[in-house]
Amino acid sequence: MKIAIYPGSFDPVTLGHINIIKRAAMAFDKVIVCVMVNSEKNGGLFAPEERIELMRKSIQVSNVEFDVNYGLVAEYAKEKGARVLVKGLRAVSDFEQEVQMAMVNSKINPDLDTVFFPSNEKYTYLSSSVVKELARYRANLDEFLPREIIDDVKNKLVRSDECNGRQH
Ligand code: ADP
Repeated sequence: MKIAIYPGSFDPVTLGHINIIKRAAMAFDKVIVCVMVNSEKNGGLFAPEERIELMRKSIQVSNVEFDVNYGLVAEYAKEKGARVLVKGLRAVSDFEQEVQMAMVNSKINPDLDTVFFPSNEKYTYLSSSVVKELARYRANLDEFLPREIIDDVKNKLVRSDECNGRQH
């Protein structure tokens, strides 16, 4: 069985991520979308389990599973018997870092390869950070987020900004 891992922060999942998940699900027998909790991007708006909940609400495809991992993705892939990492490429700026990561990962786990899916042109500018910034300014999020989670994201931002003393 061809198992692929799609790692990322997904804080929160966007339509750009969903597009990659669906395409990966067509290409592989099983796709494990894994929220990677790493030391650099600490904190985040949603807790890892909440991010998974939002993804479950947004996409139901039979060969797609969701998980969370606190370690190295190359080791995680080994545990899961996966030989492929899926990455989305938005722009040239993503490319340099992603190729470097791909090389590091195959050094740690020589059986592991990275497959890049070019972003759909509709979503090349889209990132979770952009969505959070737009949501703060009450922009319409219909073109950026799965509709099932728009209210969750708006409500979460209001609550977290209240905690941080921001005004709405
Ligand atoms: P971000 O916080 O920048 O949205 P993530 O860590 O959640 O990034 O992204 C996980 C993976 O999804 C990465 O491979 C990233 O390149 C890819 N990705 C993120 N947004 C998009 C998009 N709009 N289109 C295609 N791929 C994307």
